Amino acid sequence: MCRLCYNACSAQENETGRDHMVCTIVKDVLFLSRPSEEATKKDLPVGRDLLDTLEANRDRCVGMAANMIGVLKRVIVVNAGLMNLVMFNPVIRKAEKPYETEEGCLSLTGVRKTTRYETIELDYVDAEWKRQKRIFTGRTAQIIQHEVDHLSGILI
Ligand SMILES: [Zn+2]
Repeated sequence: MCRLCYNACSAQENETGRDHMVCTIVKDVLFLSRPSEEATKKDLPVGRDLLDTLEANRDRCVGMAANMIGVLKRVIVVNAGLMNLVMFNPVIRKAEKPYETEEGCLSLTGVRKTTRYETIELDYVDAEWKRQKRIFTGRTAQIIQHEVDHLSGILI
């Protein structure tokens, strides 16, 4: 069992020698519908577990929210091209240029229609626990919007 979530997890050793937690993906829609609580600095390990789990699922997943590994805290990870970003307490301050699209989710089967915004302005706390304010566009912005919805218990 994972020290953080109550799902069965497989602990592995990665190249850096750090213990590496790959968590099982939660598919319980009732659990996923519950809103997540504000994250604190104590939740930094949740970010690392999410990064490891995203990496383990990279062939089929581009972002994850903490509730997908059984933790109801406001933490997400997002693939931003060459690197994965971890974000604590992300808040979308502005969203511009809506468009219709279809998305899939590791916790659901199939794809569903949704409305996303091309450009978003985001406040979040990074992996060094520093406040950030950044503009994201396109694919990365879309992934962030999907994961931020998870934190509010919203599934596509
Ligand atoms: Zn999802």
